[in-house]
Amino acid sequence: ADPELSITDLVLHRAAACPSALALVDAATGRALTFGALRSAVLVAAAALSSRARVRRGDAVLLLAPNCILYPVCFLAVTALGAVATTANPLYNPREIAKQAADARAKLVVTVSDLLPKIVDLRLPTILLDGDGASLPNVTLYSDLVAGVQETEYRRPPTRQSDTAALFYSSGTTGESKGVVLTHRNFIAAATMVTSDQDQLGEGRNVLLCFLPMFHIFGMSVVTLGQLQRGNTVVVMARFDLDAVLAAVERHRVTYLFCAPPVMIALAKHGSGGRYDLSSLRCIGSGAAPLGNDVMEVVADKFPDAEIIQGYGMTETCGIISLEYPQKGRARQFGSTGALVTGVEAKIVDVKTMKHLPPNKLGEICLRGPNIMRGYFNNLKATEFTIKQGWLHTGDLGYFDERGQLYVVDRLKELIKYKGFQIAPAELEGLLLSHAEILDAVVIPYPDLEAGEVPIAYVVRSPKSSLSEVDVQKFIEKQVTYYKRLRKVTFVESVPKSASGKILRRELIAQVRSSKL
Ligand code: ATP
Ligand code: MG
Repeated sequence: ADPELSITDLVLHRAAACPSALALVDAATGRALTFGALRSAVLVAAAALSSRARVRRGDAVLLLAPNCILYPVCFLAVTALGAVATTANPLYNPREIAKQAADARAKLVVTVSDLLPKIVDLRLPTILLDGDGASLPNVTLYSDLVAGVQETEYRRPPTRQSDTAALFYSSGTTGESKGVVLTHRNFIAAATMVTSDQDQLGEGRNVLLCFLPMFHIFGMSVVTLGQLQRGNTVVVMARFDLDAVLAAVERHRVTYLFCAPPVMIALAKHGSGGRYDLSSLRCIGSGAAPLGNDVMEVVADKFPDAEIIQGYGMTETCGIISLEYPQKGRARQFGSTGALVTGVEAKIVDVKTMKHLPPNKLGEICLRGPNIMRGYFNNLKATEFTIKQGWLHTGDLGYFDERGQLYVVDRLKELIKYKGFQIAPAELEGLLLSHAEILDAVVIPYPDLEAGEVPIAYVVRSPKSSLSEVDVQKFIEKQVTYYKRLRKVTFVESVPKSASGKILRRELIAQVRSSKL
């Protein structure tokens, strides 16, 4: 049978159609790849990985690197061979990396010199994207790997759309992170669904800035592959730094900024100070965790020419499943994560009875569609718990309004259970952040003999603030019903967050339980 379209094909077809347009730009060095150069680089890398590193269909290749322009090149080269790209957080320690490499059954590692000490114990053949003189056994420089290889040497394997393209690991916010099996079909669906909707953004090529980590589905599927597939330019940044981001927006005339809440909070609390020309920005989108309306209001005030929107997605859906469509001149109305992208179906079910609920009723968000994962890798129990009768049970609590806009309230697992009531930490965090002297905040449950759990907060004050615990409690008390009152407020230097922008509530709860805080 003829090979079926792969995620690599999808991106390379686009590349062939606009070879001289810019595909990838390194924000730090200015090094750039046109779509034509991207296409050759992917084919050469694939040929070299096959002939010189013996990567075969089904083999897992571990990508462990900060964002760089070779990251998506290697990703697409691996998937071009019918092999499996598995991506890990470069901030992980050697034990965490080893655990994931073993779980994914990685045969080869692609990394950078700084990270070599973390992977020596893996004893796996390794390709180094940077550095020179790597004389270690088992280590090959990328430049040596591809030297002299022609793109015509690439042989396309008989891939099927149901083949695994990648194994991404969920963020581990609510428990151990799980390997999410994503097929070519999942990536193609995710890339085409979102970007066809995103076209409503207007004419012309978009320029994106990718500081969200490419090891995470948001950075790779949404901000990188989905955009390249569209012929858009992706400016690549290794890590988030507000000044560097704003400078890059000015320099590369960035039109679209995909963010996670910590970045939105930084934009709201610091803004640009008028130091940069940010007039190219047409849209600022936030996803990955709940974001309070007040933060969005402030960002909207600071960036009056840009649409401020939210999207919602997860590793298991290979990216975005709902997105607000910025329409010029629409009335400002924040809070929803938008409408479902074309091709996804959703229902809201009662958590106890699993009955389908009508609009405006709160329940668990369940999803079905071509972008939904095949399952968790090597974890049938978790898969059966999550995918029931073809529906992905997200573990997120939300509702649709009568116009079909989806509102994500919080995670079921993170709700604070006060007697018969449930309190969403995200709601209280949103309120806290609306205070001008509060820079960041996290709300967690605290055991209480009478009520079961009560909400307490950890708050980061702005430098000159003289806010007291009672001030903060009163500020919240005025805005919520009695059982949502904060029983305790502790001032801290920072709120622990993951690389993908999520509050590490579990870590904080554990610290509080062992009373380190
Ligand atoms: P784990 O599943 O391992 O606990 P995780 O769920 O944090 O980790 P991801 O797949 O990175 O791993 O995150 C997806 C989750 O992020 C969603 O299920 C949802 O809880 C949250 N999320 C994403 N976008 C939004 C949004 N716009 N508003 C609220 N929550 C969001
Ligand atoms: Mg999850």
